[in-house]
Amino acid sequence: MKTAFYPGSFDPATNGHMDILGRALALADSVIVAIGIHPAKKGLFTFEERKAVLVKSAKAAFGDKANAMSVISFEGLVVDAAILHGASILIRGLRDATDFDYEMQMAGMNGVMAPDIQTVFLPASPATRPITATLVRQIAAMGGDISAFVPKAAAEALKTHFKA
Ligand code: ADP
Repeated sequence: MKTAFYPGSFDPATNGHMDILGRALALADSVIVAIGIHPAKKGLFTFEERKAVLVKSAKAAFGDKANAMSVISFEGLVVDAAILHGASILIRGLRDATDFDYEMQMAGMNGVMAPDIQTVFLPASPATRPITATLVRQIAAMGGDISAFVPKAAAEALKTHFKA
């Protein structure tokens, strides 16, 4: 049983995240989507809200295959959380050279701290490559249409958040 660990903020999940998640589900027997919680950094959505969007979106996009996904929260080091949850693969999406430079450093240092965990980079698909959750939040905050960038459940959560 190969368990993959896919860490990030997912605030909220975008089509870019869903693209990587779908491909991780094809690679591993199970995928743990791990939402990093930073005590000092308050996100737009709570952990429960982010998890609900991920679960709904995965069901809609992947059907029964989504049963192989679970969503957890973690604080601290990614490799510690991955080991704690029995994962042997660490999934990261690569969009551009900025991602690449940072991710190579992380993969190198994670590899020293946790040699049994293999980092697997998945290249962003052309259609979702430009999408970042940060820009999605900014566009939504200014009343823009983000429906081309995020799954339906995320668009609904953003609409509710910024109307309230
Ligand atoms: P963001 O950088 O959009 O706030 P996260 O911090 O949640 O996203 O990123 C979690 C993981 O998902 C990282 O490995 C990141 O490279 C990947 N990712 C985010 N957006 C995309 C995308 N559009 N295409 C491919 N991978 C992505």
